[in-house]
Amino acid sequence: MNYDIAILGGGASGLMAACALSEGGRRTVILEKQGRVGRKLLSTGNGRCNLTNRSAKPSDYHGARQAAQFALKTWPPRRIEGVFARLGVPCAADEAGRVYPMSRQAASVLDALRLCCDERGVETLTDFCVTGLTRSKAGFEAVAADGRRVRARCTLVCTGGLAAPKLGASGEGYKILESLGHAILPRFPAIAALKTPPEPVRGLKGIRAEGEITLLSGGQALRTEAGELLFAEAGISGIAAMQLARQVNEALRAGRSCAARLNLMPEALSLSERAKALPKRRAEDFLNGIVPKRLGQALMKAAGIDMARPAGSLTPSELRRLHDLLTGWTVPVTGTQGFDQAQVTAGGASLKDFDARTMQSLRCPGLFAAGEVLDVDGDCGGFNLQWAWSSALLAAEGINAYLTEGAP
Ligand SMILES: Cc1cc2nc3c(=O)[nH]c(=O)nc-3n(C[C@H](O)[C@H](O)[C@H](O)COP(=O)(O)OP(=O)(O)OC[C@H]3O[C@@H](n4cnc5c(N)ncnc54)[C@H](O)[C@@H]3O)c2cc1C
Repeated sequence: MNYDIAILGGGASGLMAACALSEGGRRTVILEKQGRVGRKLLSTGNGRCNLTNRSAKPSDYHGARQAAQFALKTWPPRRIEGVFARLGVPCAADEAGRVYPMSRQAASVLDALRLCCDERGVETLTDFCVTGLTRSKAGFEAVAADGRRVRARCTLVCTGGLAAPKLGASGEGYKILESLGHAILPRFPAIAALKTPPEPVRGLKGIRAEGEITLLSGGQALRTEAGELLFAEAGISGIAAMQLARQVNEALRAGRSCAARLNLMPEALSLSERAKALPKRRAEDFLNGIVPKRLGQALMKAAGIDMARPAGSLTPSELRRLHDLLTGWTVPVTGTQGFDQAQVTAGGASLKDFDARTMQSLRCPGLFAAGEVLDVDGDCGGFNLQWAWSSALLAAEGINAYLTEGAP
């Protein structure tokens, strides 16, 4: 059977586009390489799906920011919430503007999209890994790894990025776009834990602390994030640290070294007054109540202070050293976790080859793309799904116009 539109990839953007296109009566097929659609969606927001962010603005995006800005203006977060409300998923936001389904279950977001597709007659072919796409006068033909073929008047590429291969990420989408004349920009992990040498963080694995983390590179402070920091075997995780991954990778790729400066005492405290108030407290317990115990001991060690000494014996310069470590402990950053652990891909198909108003290719008429396969990535906080939904809805409008204007 010939379809109006073949959607390559049944993830966030593919499912949203399918819902929108089928509402207008378009014969729509989703070609999904995995055994079921939307597996990654189930893992989003720790299983709760942070589906957009009411405070989203262009500076929350990287890569082709202008395209993100246009999508945000046309399909702002409140409008996306309206789409979900009509799909039967009312949403609620937390104090940071992060929007979740009222059920706080990612499964309900996926179910709503799936059920809508079923109700509107979208066909879904699973275990259909598209390996090739050709264009002829009659439209497009997608070929699967097992030889199956599907024809459609136009095609929407929604194959996602390279992050989290266990959830279906792979590179075929880029190859397909490249084969049809599109430039693919270098890709690297964004939103991933930072790697450090093992020594500075030895023994801290599993410790969580509230604080600020600043990325230093080339003698400059590039970005500061506040929030929970989670120490790992040889690295630092937690949302605040993971937000810095994109800039770490950018800097390292440009040959610049990186370090993270940690402020573990954002509330100003006088350590000399504390030493006077608690003179008998042994150094190993001196920071008890300010930072987690093992972290306090690691800082004492870094300050070169003997754990057995009473606080009353600490000299002003030792207390200053300790204060500097609490507010500016600096550890080298050697990289980030790879795509297997990352949440998002930076880079991808260049938006220079697409009309960002319709998401149609400028190289290959009738070909559209949306979501993470394109060169847009957002910060952590619902911004990436916001891009997936909004670019998909722009593409659906673009496809409708293309089909109405008499495509093959
Ligand atoms: C653990 C985790 C948590 C996250 N949490 C959040 C969050 O809370 N909020 C947020 O905004 N973002 C979050 N993200 C990011 C967000 O999930 C993605 O940016 C978003 O899913 C991208 O949507 P997409 O449609 O472009 O790609 P995807 O949702 O990845 O979908 C791509 C689909 O294409 C299929 N596919 C790939 N290649 C082929 C092929 N050759 N043939 C057929 N099918 C193919 C894949 O199997 C997949 O189903 C998270 C990511 C991860 C990994």
